[in-house]
Amino acid sequence: MKQFRAATTHSARPGDGAPAAALANRLLTWYDRHRRDLPWRAQPGESADPYRVWLSEIMLQQTTVATVEPYFRAFIARWPTVGDLARADLQSVLHAWQGLGYYARARNLHKCAGVIADSLGERFPDSEAGLLALPGIGAYTAAAIAAIAFGRPAAPVDGNVERVLARLFALTAERAAVKREVGVLAGRLTPSGRPGDFWQAVMDLGATVCRPRGPACLMCPWAGNCLALQRGLTEELPRRARRKAKPVRHGVAFWAVDATGAVLLRRRPEKGLLGGMTEVPGTEWREWPWTEEEALPLAPVPGQWLSLAGGVRHVFTHFELELTVLAATDLVPGLAEGMWCRPEDFDAHALPTVMRKVADHALRALAQPSAPPEAAIGPIRRRTSGPRPARRASSGR
Ligand code: SF4
Repeated sequence: MKQFRAATTHSARPGDGAPAAALANRLLTWYDRHRRDLPWRAQPGESADPYRVWLSEIMLQQTTVATVEPYFRAFIARWPTVGDLARADLQSVLHAWQGLGYYARARNLHKCAGVIADSLGERFPDSEAGLLALPGIGAYTAAAIAAIAFGRPAAPVDGNVERVLARLFALTAERAAVKREVGVLAGRLTPSGRPGDFWQAVMDLGATVCRPRGPACLMCPWAGNCLALQRGLTEELPRRARRKAKPVRHGVAFWAVDATGAVLLRRRPEKGLLGGMTEVPGTEWREWPWTEEEALPLAPVPGQWLSLAGGVRHVFTHFELELTVLAATDLVPGLAEGMWCRPEDFDAHALPTVMRKVADHALRALAQPSAPPEAAIGPIRRRTSGPRPARRASSGR
């Protein structure tokens, strides 16, 4: 096995007495025995495939390994190279991404594959700077690909890494200061030999040993150096920033059903939230609830619209959405814009999770055996009595 060399001879942190090289060697020895076997990882002794590393890193943003694994396998089976992905049409990529959320990532994935195929001869840049210039690749992802796929001494710092290092060095400051300090320490810790394995080892340690709650310190290769363990701070660190309540937006979704049971769907604009995905037609999403008088003129087809009891709630990164669902059945398709699709065929469309929730809600409410649709409906939410915001919220699209 290649001998590990430390990039620096600094102590990992003044006062802890553990040279960076010793910490890295200890962790790499642990990694060689306990590494997770993940479908995007190279086997020991093999070189990592930049395409697999990039694809997995994009998929893993905001998502767990367990969720990503089947998506990753499906993408690789369907598009084995970055060129294959570049030649796929965007709709099929969005469809395959369905359920992973944060759909802008899928659009950027496709765009990035296009740039690599068209301008770079299907080869990924091998430096952080070159990677950063590509669509959808930020500082973390560029560092991860540079280290894992190209052996560059780059330091990808995400929440997991932040947690592990905040504990190892007992960083007790507030979140922003800890983030800065972790960035510096991560750079010092990065070995020049096996930097990719080193950071994958930190990721594995964070996922399996130095877990957010209940870290398994007895199993930890860094237990002898861990300042949080020595000081009884493992459960307290890292300090968490107090979460701000997310703003709430409101919208109305129109569940339009024709005489054959087909439902009206449409494509969202390419740009913006859920861009290019399929949706149940609806109003814009704004900061205050809709009234019946406001919403009904925006229905996509004339009909007897009824408000379904309850509603749909969905949490996006920056806001929570509350949707009222209006349903109308036996409609004459007429000139409605969009496509009519039976619910059993929805899988053929790139429906994001929030629209799946709308479909489930509508189907459940309309199928109530004990009550005809009219009995299952309630009045559309009236505008609340508080003052109305002076300015309309952006549509979020
Ligand atoms: S000793 Fe415990 S708290 Fe410290 S790094 Fe290891 S698992 Fe995390």
